[in-house]
Amino acid sequence: MQQDCIFCRIAAGETPCFMLYEDEFTAAFMDINPASPGHALAIPKRHFPDLYQLPADLLAATAATAQKVAVAVSAALEPAGLNLVQANGPGAAQSVLHFHLHILPRGDRDGMRLNWGLQPGDMSQIEQIYKCVRARLD
Ligand code: AMP
Repeated sequence: MQQDCIFCRIAAGETPCFMLYEDEFTAAFMDINPASPGHALAIPKRHFPDLYQLPADLLAATAATAQKVAVAVSAALEPAGLNLVQANGPGAAQSVLHFHLHILPRGDRDGMRLNWGLQPGDMSQIEQIYKCVRARLD
């Protein structure tokens, strides 16, 4: 646990929150600055700053918790849709350096800037980037 980490403190029960769900490895609670009604967060209880450092089994456990909460949010609020969002690093606007998944209910035409529309891509650029990333998956 990192004392200066707000999500570690929530996971340890030292900082109050609207806790939705907890198990041995993960927790989910309401976001206190909701981007939409029902905005919630799922976290691993152990401190890992981001996706790059999170062990795959804890990613799976956190995703399963996010799914549970998403199903409950969807049943409770009947939103028009729901996004799972996750940020890594300042360029992605990560503000809390403890891995978390946002569970974001969506409204019709809510103006949230997550959807980028479908623009046909440049296939040679896609292929070039594909090769760079694919080489790192071998
Ligand atoms: P991100 O910007 O992707 O790192 O998201 C961090 C999220 O944590 C933001 O949506 C904040 O509103 C939320 N947050 C920060 N502190 C708390 C807290 N004490 N309880 C609940 N949510 C929090």
